[in-house]
Amino acid sequence: MIHVADTDTSSESGPSRDRRSSAEVRRRHGVSETPEDGATDAALALQWSRVRARLQDEIGEVEYRNWLRQAVLHGLDGDEITVMMPTRFLRDWVNKEYGALLTSFWQAENPVVRRVDIRTRPAGAANPAPDLAEPLPGGAGAGKTATTARPDDRADGAPPLDPRFTFDTFVVGKPNEFAYACARRVADGPAPGFNPLFLYGGVGLGKTHLMHAIAWELSQRADEVTVAYMSAEKFMHRFVSALRRQSTIEFKNELRSVDVLMVDDLQFLIGKDGTQEEFFHTFNALVDSGKQIIVSADKSPSDLSGIEDRLRTRLGCGMVADVHATTYELRLAILEAKASRAGVPVPGRVMEFLAQKITANVRELEGALNRLIAHAHLFDRPVTLEAANEVLHDLLRAYDRKITIEEIQKQVSEHYNIRISEMSSVRRARNIARPRQVAMYLAKQLTTRSLPEIGRKFGNRDHTTVMHAVAKVTELMAADADFAEDVDLLKRILTV
Ligand code: ADP
Ligand code: MG
Repeated sequence: MIHVADTDTSSESGPSRDRRSSAEVRRRHGVSETPEDGATDAALALQWSRVRARLQDEIGEVEYRNWLRQAVLHGLDGDEITVMMPTRFLRDWVNKEYGALLTSFWQAENPVVRRVDIRTRPAGAANPAPDLAEPLPGGAGAGKTATTARPDDRADGAPPLDPRFTFDTFVVGKPNEFAYACARRVADGPAPGFNPLFLYGGVGLGKTHLMHAIAWELSQRADEVTVAYMSAEKFMHRFVSALRRQSTIEFKNELRSVDVLMVDDLQFLIGKDGTQEEFFHTFNALVDSGKQIIVSADKSPSDLSGIEDRLRTRLGCGMVADVHATTYELRLAILEAKASRAGVPVPGRVMEFLAQKITANVRELEGALNRLIAHAHLFDRPVTLEAANEVLHDLLRAYDRKITIEEIQKQVSEHYNIRISEMSSVRRARNIARPRQVAMYLAKQLTTRSLPEIGRKFGNRDHTTVMHAVAKVTELMAADADFAEDVDLLKRILTV
């Protein structure tokens, strides 16, 4: 059997204290008591706010705002937490999409909790007090700190693994196939050449998903494997509190007893010398005894500044796998997989549109699709391109503000079927020069860059060249309707 464990050595804030406080909470929260008719027990309210902060952190602010902000804690009854939603639709949606996550976060927060029941709030029920409705200050806005800065951080119970993050739900494409293959290999069992497995890449590209998938996979294997998964911040927090409680030996022993150690977002150890030192020793002890280490970070070992050289060297001596930025094809495939799992018909055009527009990361892409699907449910309307524009207005606007000259150049060269390098080349043939002028025109229109700045991005051209391009394109658009339509189309693709 496998035990997916999170380690914690804090004695005064360990499970026993939590159990005590939960028992109190339970006593004071009988079946009939609701948050509306009295102050919810402070401990339960605090736990709820941490669960919410974690949810927000996990699923991103947009999704959280759309679906979970209106969730109200009703109370704890036996081993069951009841959460209220204002409508049946929201109840069903939250249940389906976030029920498992909500349960796993509650279980990690409070060992008494086994189940989470999501119900509809009776009409006319009061809104929750603000401190229950919103995560603690420093929640999602402050990134990952909310989950680690808590004083009685504990996690002996259910592991903080996301039930949605499995290999089954991971869509493989060119940008992530190597990382995926490595993750698979490690999940298959002892993989000497893959120790440590170092996954790196930008935010929202699936590193955590892959790590959880490995943990889930290992948890399905028959033999006894102990997996510890934690963020680097949590590692640090544990270490610092162990130091404070003079229980570092326990901490060390516990960490060194696992078979697989996963540390996510290692870049957060930058500059934390003492913690790095501890991690280094743990790392060596585990690797030397043939245990597997899996680490993720936003950069490759050699690019991680602020990490001690000896640690950097060791990090790079196993398998280093880069999760590249998504391509249009991968984004489309992810949308298709997600839409088909949701069982909602989403027209190809809408998915193409989303894949083209929402390029920053997979999390936002998923969030956008969820919003569209929910909107369609809510109003009982099919998903259409118009609806996408309407529902995602704010998100799309945010993208507009971030239009870069590089994107414009890419889009324009793709549209006119020329190489992107021609944007900076000295060639003056009409079939090259015209698209280049269009790109300059769009750069002037859609970004706040100055003429000289734009000129520099187009092979160090003078600002007068850009001025000329803008004038020329304006003139041509007035004279040639086809050309004008072409430029407008490009503008729409880039902005919508
Ligand atoms: P990271 O840890 O790299 O910042 P995550 O693993 O948290 O990113 O991924 C962000 C979201 O995108 C998650 O919901 C994850 O399931 C999803 N995701 C990322 N890559 C893929 C993929 N290739 N297939 C399916 N979902 C993905
Ligand atoms: Mg991550």
